[in-house]
Amino acid sequence: MLIVGAGPTGLTLAVDLARRDVRVRIIDRAPSHFIGSRGKGLQDRSLEVLDDLGVANQLKAVGWALPVRVSTRGRPVRESPSGASLILPQSIVERTLRARMAEFGVTVELDTTLTGFEQSPDRVVATTSRGTIAARCLVGCDGGHSTVRKALGVAFTGHSSANQSMVLGDVEVTGLSREYGHVWVDPRRGMLALTPFRTVPQWQFQAATGDAGEPSLDEFRRQFDLFTGLREVTISNPTWLSTYRVSARMAREFRVGRVFLAGDAAHVHPPAGGLGMNTGIQDAYNLGWKLAHALAGTASPGLLDTYQQERLPIAEWTLSTSSTGLEQLWTAVKSGTGTIDTAIKPEHRQLGLGYRGEPLSKNLAAWNGPEAGDRAPWLQEIGGGGFTVLGFGTAADSLGRVRGVATRPMPGDQDVLVLVRPDGYIGMVAGPADVKPVQDYIDRP
Ligand SMILES: Cc1cc2nc3c(=O)[nH]c(=O)nc-3n(C[C@H](O)[C@H](O)[C@H](O)COP(=O)(O)OP(=O)(O)OC[C@H]3O[C@@H](n4cnc5c(N)ncnc54)[C@H](O)[C@@H]3O)c2cc1C
Repeated sequence: MLIVGAGPTGLTLAVDLARRDVRVRIIDRAPSHFIGSRGKGLQDRSLEVLDDLGVANQLKAVGWALPVRVSTRGRPVRESPSGASLILPQSIVERTLRARMAEFGVTVELDTTLTGFEQSPDRVVATTSRGTIAARCLVGCDGGHSTVRKALGVAFTGHSSANQSMVLGDVEVTGLSREYGHVWVDPRRGMLALTPFRTVPQWQFQAATGDAGEPSLDEFRRQFDLFTGLREVTISNPTWLSTYRVSARMAREFRVGRVFLAGDAAHVHPPAGGLGMNTGIQDAYNLGWKLAHALAGTASPGLLDTYQQERLPIAEWTLSTSSTGLEQLWTAVKSGTGTIDTAIKPEHRQLGLGYRGEPLSKNLAAWNGPEAGDRAPWLQEIGGGGFTVLGFGTAADSLGRVRGVATRPMPGDQDVLVLVRPDGYIGMVAGPADVKPVQDYIDRP
């Protein structure tokens, strides 16, 4: 397996494949690891995924949930309770995933740029700045400007907004409480935010305003003064500076032959809701177990097609909800009321997303519980990574006939077998006598 791009998407996929004993190489064109805070929130569904990959507790120990204090010209107008997401720098998420990956003997090959590839029926040969790499499959996790997507000729449709951009960076701050994320809104100019992190001295600086210049400490100071007038606050030691332009675009195909697209390479969207990194992590987790089955020769012919079937509608939803969220955010900014938290929705926790009606979601029996395609609500009890068959009510008696996977009797007055996929979604709801279809699903998903 060749993974191009070692951001959160590529690293998640690498860990998932490596723990399944798939031989993985992961390359990145950057000469050193990314150090910025960029995507700074992990949603609940990603934390479930990262728990299964063995890193959630480490991340929870260094992240926090923060209430947000909204002010206009130095005067607090609103305080919103902490959102659901775990706030921490993206660079720490990446570092933690790299450390986990190293436990399986895989490290990122830095300073290695993919320039092109050719695919034949049984392999892909990639050309990089350090020579060629032959692999059974290639996954482009190479971000919004994806070389892989462009080389495939896959359209990236949508729009980029010339007048919606922000400057951002990581800085040290004194004179502000670390117990809040701080946001200043100015109905005429836009919005400025400073977010502290739990275990590092840096705060994330973000200024979304039409008159922002190139990102620099001087520009941050200028914007801060214009928005807040708080001279006693100091801003210093920038360790990362960046510019971001709002885009809402997605690839029309996530797979062409043996080459796949995941994360920002497949979809980019406004930052409202904090979904970008999270959606990439969940793309990777959808693809990992399927690729492992395909490479082991235990996949049904259509299994790899289900990656696009399942994840493309999720990307569409993400573009839509984050675009709506951005509009609501700007409406709130222009109103001067500070009600910016109205742009954050419970569904951004991504626990309600699923794959109902897709080919891998099979309802053979009716019951009052979740349907095939829904996220299994019992993950805390049963864990993830492999198939699990749950026997509710008297269907527990059938579990002894299921081979090769974890099984668990569950209390209940309805008698059904529920097959939970390795990525935590329900693959099949079946009657107690349906052991054969359940077993067939497990043996050749
Ligand atoms: C201001 C801001 C706030 C955000 N807030 C959030 C948030 O709260 N929550 C959230 O979920 N997301 C957030 N995001 C989005 C998030 O940062 C991205 O969605 C995320 O980084 C995408 O991860 P990725 O691994 O798909 O791509 P990237 O992180 O872009 O990684 C791609 C990697 O591919 C490498 N690469 C590129 N081309 C090549 C090549 N040809 N050969 C080899 N390597 C290559 C790059 O060097 C890079 O390391 C935010 C983004 C911004 C800018």
